[in-house]
Parts: sequence; structure tokens; C-alpha cells
Amino acid sequence: MTGTAPASFTADDYEARMERAARQAAEAGLAGLLVAPGPDLVWLTGYTPTAVTERLTLLILAAGRDPVLVVPTLEAPDAERAPGAPALTLRDWTDGKDPYAATAALLDADGRFGISDNTWAMHLLGLQKALPGTSYASLTEALPMLRAVKDAAELDLLAAAGAAADAAFEEIRGVAFAGRRESDVAADLASLLRRFGHSQVDFTIVASGPNGANPHHEIGDRVIERGDMVVLDFGGLKDGYGSDTSRTVHVGEPTDEERRVHDLVREAQEAGFRAVRPGAACQDVDRAARAVIADAGYGEYFIHRTGHGIGVTTHEPPYMIEGEERPLVPGMCFSVEPGVYLPGRFGVRIEDIVTVTEDGGRRLNNTARDMVIVD
Ligand code: ZN
Ligand code: ZN
Ligand code: ZN
Repeated sequence: MTGTAPASFTADDYEARMERAARQAAEAGLAGLLVAPGPDLVWLTGYTPTAVTERLTLLILAAGRDPVLVVPTLEAPDAERAPGAPALTLRDWTDGKDPYAATAALLDADGRFGISDNTWAMHLLGLQKALPGTSYASLTEALPMLRAVKDAAELDLLAAAGAAADAAFEEIRGVAFAGRRESDVAADLASLLRRFGHSQVDFTIVASGPNGANPHHEIGDRVIERGDMVVLDFGGLKDGYGSDTSRTVHVGEPTDEERRVHDLVREAQEAGFRAVRPGAACQDVDRAARAVIADAGYGEYFIHRTGHGIGVTTHEPPYMIEGEERPLVPGMCFSVEPGVYLPGRFGVRIEDIVTVTEDGGRRLNNTARDMVIVD
């Protein structure tokens, strides 16, 4: 899920992130943070175990205390080589010992802890049994903005991932669509993402004709035909940071209606992008994009939020959705991806990753947003 840590960050960077996280946890009234292998652990320490198993690995952060990484003895040598290791105290436990008792000895017996969302249930149950006085909150709910504001090095990595996804789109425009299966074009997209530097491909959606009306459709065996709209939505991780972009292409000449719906989504995407500026609320981006589609009479066919954050994962807070009133802050990075889905017929989605700058938004995807005709 997480890939490897990029080389751009130093031990000092990781130490600063851990200090910031511990401070934010204290401000949120938490006794500390418990972080299992996954995107939060990668972001905080640069450490990814070679395999995530039933053996407990857990980072413990608490304000005013040194960070501790509880780790299986056989994985301790790997953990010692993690980029963030200089700031960590390792506490290893050996097979046959109770890792929860060992962890419990390090925690406030009646504390409330933020725990990373992807922690296995068996580990949380083990901790609750060892320390019945403790309680737990989802780390993402308690500190939703922990990873949301990217520093300059992170933005460079996200821009590079976006440029690589753009390069993949420029190439896929030239491949044959008509007469090939969605899964064939998806395989092309995956190999292009890898060719342009992605170490991990998270999704390569190729949704042709009526399949495009289902935003959750990934790929199937449908053979793409002349006359199809085809939604392409693809992304993954390059050097530890995410890409995610969508373009909708047409096989041969589109009808007037197809062109009109495509232009409408492009206008909505532009309106969402123009709403991006420091101090605007996340929901303002959703409202701006949605208003364009609603005003044209297609409101009921835009059936998902307008965007999501991106960083060491391809989907994370902040979310561009009605009700999300948190303000946009320079350095935030997220998708703007309105769509129109006409059941049984076709769909259109256009998606760019956008970052908030001091005076507006900056796109990290820059391929053509007008309708691309493919063969
Ligand atoms: Zn058509
Ligand atoms: Zn996408
Ligand atoms: Zn997206």
C-alpha cells in the first residue's frame, strides 16, 4: 500500500514531523498517537516493513517523550535502517512474548489515544485487553489535517508524479482503442505509469460507453467501440508520492450531446479550480464545480464529491465536499474532479491535482482538458 520512502527527506525532517504530530495530539486532548505500518508510519518515520504480518509493529508518540517503535526482534535490523530511526527508541519483542503487555508498559493506563486507521483490529483488541482503562480515536478523525499541508520537497514530489501521469496520458492518446478490451488499455496505462517512474500503480480505470456512467467501474472485458466515450482515471505512487488524473476521450467523432456534456464538465472543473485560494473553505471548491453542472440541468448526474487530498496515499483528507468548512491553506494538495454520469449511456470525468498557493491554485496536471479524439 505504501511504497518506499523517498530519499528527499532527512532524519531531521522525520523528527520534526513526529514532534509536530505529538504536539497536535496533545492539543487534541490525546495521551498520544499509536501508528501501525502504513501511510502514517511512512510519513512519520520513512519506515515500511518488508511485509506487514500479524506481528505487532507500532510507533508510540506522546508530547514531551521520545518516540518509541515497538518492533518484532527479527525486523529490528530493518527498522534501525529507516530514515527516521535516529530519533526513535526501538523496543523489540521476541516471538512467544506478549507484544501487547510490552506495549502497555509504555502507555498511560487510562489514556485516550489516536490510532492509525489501518491498524489491524487484532492489535487494537490486544491493546484494549491489556489496558482496559484506555480508549481510542481514529487518527484521521482526531487529526485530519496532520499530513494535509505539504512542504516544498513534498510538493516537488507530487508535481513530478503529476508530470509522469501526464506523460502517460500523452502516450495513451496514441494507442488503438476501438476493437480492444478495456483491460488491454488499462494494462497499457499501467505499464506507461511504470515507464514514467511509478513504483506502484493504484488504479487504471478504463470505463467505456455505458460503463463510464458508473464512477466505480474499474475495468472489464468490454470491447471498446467506435463512438464510445471512455473515462480514463489512473494513478499511483512515484518516489513515495501520489498521482491521480482523469481525462475522458472519445473514439472517433463525438455527437453534439457528448461534446456538450464534456464541455460542461470541463467548465465545472475550471470553476472548481478557480475557487481554490487560501482561506476559501473546502466546500467552496465543491460548490463552484457543482453549480456549473446544476445550472445546466445535470445536477442529479454528478454523484460524488468534487475532490480528495493526495500525498503519500492517493486518497486522504482534505475532502472537497459540502459540509467541509475547514479553510484551504497554502501547501494543501487535492483533486478537482467533477463528473457527469448518464445511466446506461456514458460518463465524463475530468480530474487534475491542484495545490494551494499564496494567490490561488496551481495545477499539477497539465494535459489538454478539451475533448481528445482517439482511434
Ligand atoms: Zn460517442
Ligand atoms: Zn482519479
Ligand atoms: Zn481522484
